[in-house]
Parts: sequence; structure tokens; C-alpha cells
Amino acid sequence: MHLKTLTLRGFKSFASATTLSLEPGITCVVGPNGSGKSNVVDALSWVMGEQGAKSLRGGKMEDVIFAGTSGRPPLGRAEVSLTIDNTDGALPIDYTEVTITRTLFRSGGSEYAINGSSCRLLDIQELLSDSGIGREMHVVVGQGQLDQVLRATPEDRRGFIEEAAGVLKHRKRKEKALRKLDAMAGNLARLTDLTAELR
Ligand code: ATP
Repeated sequence: MHLKTLTLRGFKSFASATTLSLEPGITCVVGPNGSGKSNVVDALSWVMGEQGAKSLRGGKMEDVIFAGTSGRPPLGRAEVSLTIDNTDGALPIDYTEVTITRTLFRSGGSEYAINGSSCRLLDIQELLSDSGIGREMHVVVGQGQLDQVLRATPEDRRGFIEEAAGVLKHRKRKEKALRKLDAMAGNLARLTDLTAELR
């Protein structure tokens, strides 16, 4: 499995559609200060489901949409597509090539798609989570983050290992199931009260 192409449309400084082809091996992005190198990495995190505006170096999520320059008006949407070569079947989906797309509209709505079919954010997160890539897999190591890992508490370190081992997905499912059980218990208590009142 390797990342094949990354296409940015209206994402941060990339107003026009821009496609980066990534060959197997190491890819270096070079350019002057402020030319958008980190924006490329932000796009990668974002398309894989990043939800924190701060992690994307913004104040609010809308900040990822091209905000305009003196010569070009702001755009109404940002869209990023990531194509992954899946010939080795690392992603649990029956396609040898998988394209995930995330779109955010300035009006507030957002859309996700896998190979052109609409899906939920959860579908993208689940697709990526077993493969070793994904938002919470620490595959994107930002400036200063190595320091953070070295200074992490034992609990945080356990978190890193759990993520790498693929336990996180199950932990999240368990938390969701527990929340549902909690809500059910509340409903049951109310029902019991009502039944007692009716007797
Ligand atoms: P450095 O080498 O200094 O780290 P860089 O190449 O990593 O720089 P980035 O941080 O990726 O540069 O890009 C910063 C540029 O992106 C700035 O010029 C900033 O104005 C522009 N930018 C960020 N968000 C937007 C946006 N929403 N709309 C338009 N331009 C944006």
C-alpha cells in the first residue's frame, strides 16, 4: 500500500486544483517559506478525517477554505482527494485503488466519499484504522511532536501503542456501546416508573 496522489482544490493556499504524485519511497516537498509545504501535510491529515482546527493550524475548520488574495476572491469550498494504491489489499475494501475525498462548504456542510460514493466520516476512519494510517495513527509527525512523544506520560505512551496495535477502533466501539447502554438504562428506569404509576 502506498499513497499515490493527493489533489487539493480550494484547500488553504491551493486555490486551483493541484495534484501531487507520490512515488513509492521518500517524497520531499521543497519550497520557500510560506509557499504551502505544511499546507500539503495539513491536507493529508484533513482528508484522513482530522477534526481539530488547531491541529490544522487554524482557529476554526472554515480556515482550511481558500480565503482569497489581492488578486483572487475567496472560494466557497475546500476539497481534498487522496488516492491510495491498495494492490496488496492492506485496506479492507475490494478495490486495488481507493480514493477518499473530503469536502467542506463555507456554508457549513461537509461531505465524505470513498471511490466517489458518499459515506460517513466513520466509514473513512474505520477503513483507514486497520491499515496503520489514519487521523489518530501518528503517521503525521508535526514540528515539535517528537519532543511530545519523548516526554509523554505512561498513559499517553500506552495510547500510542494501542493505536498502533489497532485497539483504538474497538475501544471507541466499546465506548459507543456503553453510551447506548446508559441511555437504555435511563429509558428503562422511566418506563418502570410509568408502569408503577399506571398500576
Ligand atoms: P515554512 O517553510 O515557513 O514552514 P510552508 O511552506 O510550510 O512555510 P505553509 O505554512 O504551508 O508554508 O503556508 C502558509 C501560507 O498559506 C501562508 O501564505 C498563508 O497565507 C497561506 N494560507 C493558509 N491558509 C490559507 C487560506 N485559507 N487561504 C489562503 N491562503 C492560506
